[in-house]
Amino acid sequence: MSNKKKLHFPNDYKVGVLGGGQLGKMLALAAGKWGLPFYVLDASKDFPAGAYSTEFTEGSFKDFDDVYNFGKDKDIVTIEIEHVNTDALFKLQEEGVQVHPNPQALNIIKDKGLQKQFYADRALPTSPFRLYANEDELKLSIKDNRLIFPFVQKTRTAGYDGRGVAVIRSADDMDKILKGPCITEPLVDIDKEIAIVVARNASGEITTFPPVEMDFNPVANLVEYLYCPADISYNVLTKADELAREIIEAYDICGLLAVEFFLTKQGEILINEVAPRTHNSGHHTIDSCQTSQFEQQLRAILNLPLGSTTMTSPAIMVNLLGEAGHTGPAIYEGMDKCLQTEGVHVHLYGKKITKPFRKMGHATVVDTDLAKAKEKATFIKNTLRIISEE
Ligand code: ADP
Repeated sequence: MSNKKKLHFPNDYKVGVLGGGQLGKMLALAAGKWGLPFYVLDASKDFPAGAYSTEFTEGSFKDFDDVYNFGKDKDIVTIEIEHVNTDALFKLQEEGVQVHPNPQALNIIKDKGLQKQFYADRALPTSPFRLYANEDELKLSIKDNRLIFPFVQKTRTAGYDGRGVAVIRSADDMDKILKGPCITEPLVDIDKEIAIVVARNASGEITTFPPVEMDFNPVANLVEYLYCPADISYNVLTKADELAREIIEAYDICGLLAVEFFLTKQGEILINEVAPRTHNSGHHTIDSCQTSQFEQQLRAILNLPLGSTTMTSPAIMVNLLGEAGHTGPAIYEGMDKCLQTEGVHVHLYGKKITKPFRKMGHATVVDTDLAKAKEKATFIKNTLRIISEE
């Protein structure tokens, strides 16, 4: 017999989230819809989720004691960032706290080397890769002609938003080589980058959101525009959808998994990487789907029926990034004009300080006509400027 107590919805579902950034904030807003008690651990109550949580604990999600002490009186602990202390999560799990996603999966996903090996072991399609203990080993491989230009180098851990990724095209790029344990991959001839957010609950129910197509800012290597639905064939859609379902089952995750794919010019579908949580590529769901990715994460970790992922409108999402050359208290210029535009939903994360290319918010444009949505999205991008006077 299970010794787990019976939980009464919603009051007994004491949900704790590691991380209080924008994903934590939007998750807290979804929890608020049902009056779910919602607890957050992160370094400062000034972070985006601070004002929206039932209780905010200041501490580090990377520290064993902080995570353990935060989690021990919660019913369910989840994350909004994968770089958390998993030793504490294993201990919490042993003591009967439900931890979603499971810490085994987190340990694999947060290390790009282990993650690639996970797909290779299961014959899941991903580009070939090699592991290096450090940059010296990598440089030696180049010298010995075992590693040929061009290639992509990725740090095994601590990469985020393209920061741990270097494209090394020739010997001229040697100064771009990143330090520490890393992997290399061939430079893939990418036609499109798409992502699918898939959800799974403890009863084994699985749903997928429609695939989105990502358009990157070449300087910041951050997603600038995101289109849903993606302009892909039915065959690609079906294959990517099947893979997303297979991967979440392989990791045995309850919660969400955002799966990023490369579609190559040769027609292959390759898994790039996954994130076991809500994701930038699912933000549009708040305004364009029957259920948002944030509500879906709650449904999945609480083992509630998963919501419909049907789109209510095609959508384009624009990340609102801090203007280059501006660091300091944030000022939002051009907000009035954006709010006057029909179908535009602006989400500001409430970060007090702007920095060049910092994610300060996003806007979703919904329009049955994707061409019109694109026009409006470009208008928002050019009109809403996040600057600082300092
Ligand atoms: P992050 O974890 O920082 O998001 P990714 O591994 O997703 O890093 O890489 C960021 C971006 O770099 C990708 O979205 C893609 O545009 C480019 N990229 C990554 N790996 C390759 C590759 N093997 N070939 C070509 N481009 C790549």
